[in-house]
Amino acid sequence: MISAAQKLGFHPKKMWLCVLVLLSTSSQSVLAQSSIETTPVGNAQDRYPVDWQAVAAESMEYFLALLRTNTSNPPGNETEVATYLQRVLQQEDIKAELFALDPTRANLVARLRGNGSKAPILVMGHTDVVGVQPDRWSVDPFGAVAKDGYIYSRGSLDDKDNVTAGLMLMLLLRRAGVELDRDVIFLAEAGEEGTTKFGIDYMVDQHWNQIASEFCLAEGGGTVARDGEVRYVKIATTEKFPMRVRLVARGTAGHGSIPRLDNAVSALARAVARVAAWQSPLRLNETTRAYFSRLSEISSPEEAARYRGVLDPKQQQRIEHYFAEHEPQHYALLRTSVVPTIMNAGFRRNVIPGEAEATLDIRGLPDENPEEFYRDLAVLINDPNIEIIPEGVYRPGSPPSSLESEMFQALERITDRLFPNAVTLPSMLTAATDMAQVRAQGTQCYGFGAVRTEEDIVGGGGAHGDDERIMESSLLTLIQYLWYTVLEVAASE
Ligand SMILES: [Zn+2]
Repeated sequence: MISAAQKLGFHPKKMWLCVLVLLSTSSQSVLAQSSIETTPVGNAQDRYPVDWQAVAAESMEYFLALLRTNTSNPPGNETEVATYLQRVLQQEDIKAELFALDPTRANLVARLRGNGSKAPILVMGHTDVVGVQPDRWSVDPFGAVAKDGYIYSRGSLDDKDNVTAGLMLMLLLRRAGVELDRDVIFLAEAGEEGTTKFGIDYMVDQHWNQIASEFCLAEGGGTVARDGEVRYVKIATTEKFPMRVRLVARGTAGHGSIPRLDNAVSALARAVARVAAWQSPLRLNETTRAYFSRLSEISSPEEAARYRGVLDPKQQQRIEHYFAEHEPQHYALLRTSVVPTIMNAGFRRNVIPGEAEATLDIRGLPDENPEEFYRDLAVLINDPNIEIIPEGVYRPGSPPSSLESEMFQALERITDRLFPNAVTLPSMLTAATDMAQVRAQGTQCYGFGAVRTEEDIVGGGGAHGDDERIMESSLLTLIQYLWYTVLEVAASE
């Protein structure tokens, strides 16, 4: 007879980890299967045993409280969450300080001291969320409703799950009295969703000494399961950065009955069409190379041939066309992308407007040089009546974090330990996060994330979506992943 855990693909030796059975539709039944590790041996994970059942219940309480605090940005009101976290931490004698550019938008920093033999680790999560269109939700977006093994709430995946994991990490480290080589710093930050001046910019510019660290762990990765088993763990090691521009076309205003060669609407349409048809140069980096190569190892033969092929200059052109049509998320990894998103032209059908405008959402590869890129764009558009106006780069470009670092190697080991049949995929985010500012300070940052099923990822309900939801059991898995990783890198021998 095989046990339920074995059926789900779990390594028999890892039975103590059967709490990680992820895909039961009811998290109650998942938790019922969990056992408590007790064997005290040499490794830090064994020296500091954790009662995961108790952690599951306790962390869920914090998580629900955070989700039920509406921190839609704007206006944010992150101070409410920051003071809640401060209270929980201080109840266990962990000093937690608030830092605020605006009193309603506080950031929280807590630190557990190590022996100083190694540099600190920063664990961060953002406390604000994007807004909602409540009519489009099947439940109250701030009710944290439990249904079918999921918790439905704005912020459940982005990013109050990571905030809860960071909080729980601090409590567990303190309670277990873990001896640390490194300080462990927890930053719950405001304003990630578009108002970084209150959050990460303020902390980096004004209070860097509070969060200076060698490594940082944050949002942006993701753990992906198929048929009851985790297939891969994406760790975000780098990201593209927004370098948007406005195109402004100018011409002579006049009567709609009299055609003019310098019609601003026509000029703008031509420019946008040129830009949309253009393929900027294809460029891979260490992360995207490793990503495609490792992805090929767990893909069907046909897919694997494509993922390997994209690394081969002779096949790239054919494969990028395939990606453009069938796998746009992979197409976006190959280049700095230029996507027209807004056009504004005209106000009356019989008036030629003097001006017309478009917005291009440009996402630069980490090593992109915006000035050079804008010059190339001007050459491409080739129309002196079109002005290219950069909106300003508010997240700095930064070098990818290393795949050879102590932290990345620890993350790989923890993936192997928790999900024996999964691979660790280093990944480049196409969207931007607060890791950009921290990486720009020289910190190596790695994004990790909750378990989601492939069906879930395709079906919506993700970050920023309507009915954003997390599998109840994913919260505990996220905490375990963080706990074991931090022990691996920070606990003293
Ligand atoms: Zn986020």
